[in-house]
Amino acid sequence: MTGIVYVNGEYLPAEEAKISVFDRGFLMADAIYELTAVVDGKLIDFPAHLARLDRSLAELDIVNPHGYDGWLALHRELVARNAVTEGSVYVEVTRGNTGERAFEYPPAEIPPTVVAFATNRPGIVDSPAAAAGLRIVTLPDLRWQRRDIKTVQLIYQAQAKMLAKRAGADDGWLVEDGFVTEGTSNNAYIVRKGRIVTRPLGNDILHGITRASLLRFAREAQMEVEERQFTVAEAQAADEAFITSATGFVTPVVEVDGTAVGTGKPGPVALRLREIYIDESRKTAL
Ligand code: PLP
Repeated sequence: MTGIVYVNGEYLPAEEAKISVFDRGFLMADAIYELTAVVDGKLIDFPAHLARLDRSLAELDIVNPHGYDGWLALHRELVARNAVTEGSVYVEVTRGNTGERAFEYPPAEIPPTVVAFATNRPGIVDSPAAAAGLRIVTLPDLRWQRRDIKTVQLIYQAQAKMLAKRAGADDGWLVEDGFVTEGTSNNAYIVRKGRIVTRPLGNDILHGITRASLLRFAREAQMEVEERQFTVAEAQAADEAFITSATGFVTPVVEVDGTAVGTGKPGPVALRLREIYIDESRKTAL
């Protein structure tokens, strides 16, 4: 990484951006994060990302170090300083640095650590992956049970992504008790007879910001949405499948565990939803 990175109030060249080895984010993954897409130099779905950041912190009893305006200014400053037109802003808040390793939470006066950076990622809108569609393999969901909190404890997601890649696929979907929970870094959907099916919200999946907006846009477009669990076999027999995430927007899935989904090509519903999501979210970008 190059560019300008934010660390605890300072904007620094990436090579000078450092935190302590005693930071609890480093020692214990005691930290949460958010990732917001940037399109046309503007932040997509920003208020919702900030609301989830606030919720993740509250769930872990970490004080939110900034208000809405402070976070917005920080995001915009990173976009400007790094000249990002299409890409993302990553922010991480940890429980801070006590200068030692201890399981107990530190006293209230220890401030959280805030680290943030912005990345140029040209091609997230005109994405080759969206044009080709993704090949997915399924893996057991071995994560902890508070997946609704966006923590940096991502080792299993990273491992699952690597296992999927080594199996020759593009990504993995995680499966628990016979049902798909979500992708390694995205929410999972199937389409059957025009109905969009996705797992309901709970502690077992991340409450995707793209998911929330997309389901709203789909309902506004009079499309039927069914929030219920689905199996791998159902996904393989579906007309279409797709995923959503902040920088993937809506990306079609064309294969699950070696079986072609529908025609084996990106489906019309997924492609239409991608178009709707990008068009609509551009209108409210900040
Ligand atoms: N599910 C998981 C496990 C994720 O890691 C992510 C994004 O990182 C998502 C879903 C999608 O969430 P969002 O649409 O807010 O990016």
